[in-house]
Amino acid sequence: MEIKGIGEKTASYFNKCHVYTCEDLINYYPRGYDEFVSPLRACDLKVKCLCSARLTIIGNITRRHVRNMSIVAFDAADETGKVKITFFNAPYLASSLKSGATYIFRGTVEKKGNFFSMTHPKMYKEEEYAPLIGRLMPRYPLTKHLTNNVVTKAVEKAFINVGDLQDFVPQEILTRLGLMEYKKALRLIHFPGNSKELEEARRRLAYNEFLLFVLKLRLLKQRSDGKKNETPMAETADTDLLLEKLPYKLTGAQMRAWNDIKSDLFSENVMNRLVQGDVGSGKTILAFLSLITCASNGYQGAMMAPTEVLASQHFENLKKLIEMYGIDCLKPALLIGALSAKEKREVRDKIKNGEVNCIIGTHALVQDSVVYKNLSLVVTDEQHRFGVRQREALSGKGSSVHVLAMSATPIPRTLAIILYGDLSISVVDEMPQGRLPIKNCVVGTNYRQTAYKFITDQVHKGHQAYVICPMIEEGELDGYENVTDYTQTLREVLPKDIHIEMLHGRMKPLEKDRLMEAFSRKEIDVLVSTTVIEVGIDVPNATVIMIENAERFGLSQLHQLRGRVGRGADQSYCIFINSSDSEDAAKRMDIMNRSNDGFEIAEEDLNQRGPGDLFGVRQSGDMNFRCGDICRDSDLVKESAMDADRILKNDPNLSLPQHNVLSEIVNTKSVNFIDFTTL
Ligand code: ADP
Ligand code: MG
Repeated sequence: MEIKGIGEKTASYFNKCHVYTCEDLINYYPRGYDEFVSPLRACDLKVKCLCSARLTIIGNITRRHVRNMSIVAFDAADETGKVKITFFNAPYLASSLKSGATYIFRGTVEKKGNFFSMTHPKMYKEEEYAPLIGRLMPRYPLTKHLTNNVVTKAVEKAFINVGDLQDFVPQEILTRLGLMEYKKALRLIHFPGNSKELEEARRRLAYNEFLLFVLKLRLLKQRSDGKKNETPMAETADTDLLLEKLPYKLTGAQMRAWNDIKSDLFSENVMNRLVQGDVGSGKTILAFLSLITCASNGYQGAMMAPTEVLASQHFENLKKLIEMYGIDCLKPALLIGALSAKEKREVRDKIKNGEVNCIIGTHALVQDSVVYKNLSLVVTDEQHRFGVRQREALSGKGSSVHVLAMSATPIPRTLAIILYGDLSISVVDEMPQGRLPIKNCVVGTNYRQTAYKFITDQVHKGHQAYVICPMIEEGELDGYENVTDYTQTLREVLPKDIHIEMLHGRMKPLEKDRLMEAFSRKEIDVLVSTTVIEVGIDVPNATVIMIENAERFGLSQLHQLRGRVGRGADQSYCIFINSSDSEDAAKRMDIMNRSNDGFEIAEEDLNQRGPGDLFGVRQSGDMNFRCGDICRDSDLVKESAMDADRILKNDPNLSLPQHNVLSEIVNTKSVNFIDFTTL
């Protein structure tokens, strides 16, 4: 990293977060903001929250030594209550602070016995604090070694170091929509003076994201529109045979979507179709049917999933299907990053010479080194997790490739038409028969013991359970549960016959696969996991999911997580542990409690979000715009679509000089791709 004052070590921590340059740093947006609010009374402090209180030091200021650490401690109070204050290794405080002095103490509140406490609070004099009220301090995504302070300072420096940040949005548009200058917006997204500025900055950056996104779509569409179907297919017996043998009948909605897909594949033009359906509506079988059709017509098909875990699962399920129902035309292969170089080479050879005709994988599928013999169909599962670029790259692998995208994102139809502008849409709006609605409960941490008993009970009845924690290991974010410790705890408190394992994104891919496989074969009873299992994972025998620190997740994300259960005929349960006592959290959790409908949840989520949690509860169901929110900013989405059309009308290939920057960005940057394999 070429920033003065950032040492090699710190730089290496940043590199771990994929931050290498000043520009990367500037694009490392906060996940939320802490507002300086008017100081609270001691009795109004909230545990685990960053709070400020005006308190007077009472009693003695004590100074102790424990091993080689010095501890300064005292009580501070107002008329409503007392707070225990502790500082480590700050011995000078003992002499500089006086009993009777009043300060604003700002820190994270904990509860020790009957008392509130703060460790290392910031202390402000009244006149220092007053001008800060209303200011927002950025809260960055952190790792074990990167503190908020370090990131904040680095970002400040990056702004000094960074060269000119070129804006690609024509001035005329900015004026019409009242959007601020790009560089200013970037600055304010990190260091907003107040929430109004933050909102204006966010909207500006959101507009950029939308415009780029829509432009990319339009260019894709230009290329695919009216493209001739060069791999025409005909109905074969294989799919009907499979449908007869399956233990269930397709729902009406699945049938409609399947007919849409078939008529595309058999038509004159190339297919570009999105299948939209809530979690558990049964989209995978549609993908498999399409891949079978493709194979039995003599072509290759590929299916791309956003995580290795999901890709492997699809592969395993497909293999089972082939074995059980004798689908001989399918020759499947798995291509994921976890394979050894040799294995990858072998798979690539088989793809090239046509030995395999159904390739399942992650975005490893789109790498340049993969050459297909006669690729005809590309399925992308969980489409919203990919950038347009991935789809673009894959469809570039064949001369005219059919594209089938699947997504669980509940977005209004008008927006879907813009955002998936290049695709026709089939909606799977019906759940398989015989599903019992998931039973929800939202409870506090004191319910844990009961929940453990419940899980034990379900496991003893032959079922399985997921436990979700937001963190991987201790120390990433205070006060949140982590998979590593939690697994240990569960092994101690649950009966010994219950097999508990953990799963998270930092594990070796092979290990992840092994665990997921073992879980789906029922060799593991309880899987303690991060959100890696959020997308697509399908183990119908799992009937309980317990989500720790549920308040920390976005509602749509919770909905996706919950969708891991209730996938079979058995009654399933979702236990949301709400570890916060904030009213907002309670309200949000209440929505989850009341509704199992992804669409309704997305809307409610939107209605309830306040400006403080802009990024904090980022929707995973969204298309992963960083600032933009397709529902909240639906006006901007529509504007950007019209602007994109106007720009392309005058300059269809973005070749005019005034579109240089735009053209470069559209053609090089992945617009909204986030690599979820590392979560
Ligand atoms: P999603 O739409 O979330 O991708 P899946 O395709 O994984 O859902 O399907 C969820 C579960 O429902 C799977 O176990 C699948 O076998 C089963 N399933 C799919 N369609 C039907 C159906 N018509 N009737 C009964 N079960 C079905
Ligand atoms: Mg799925």
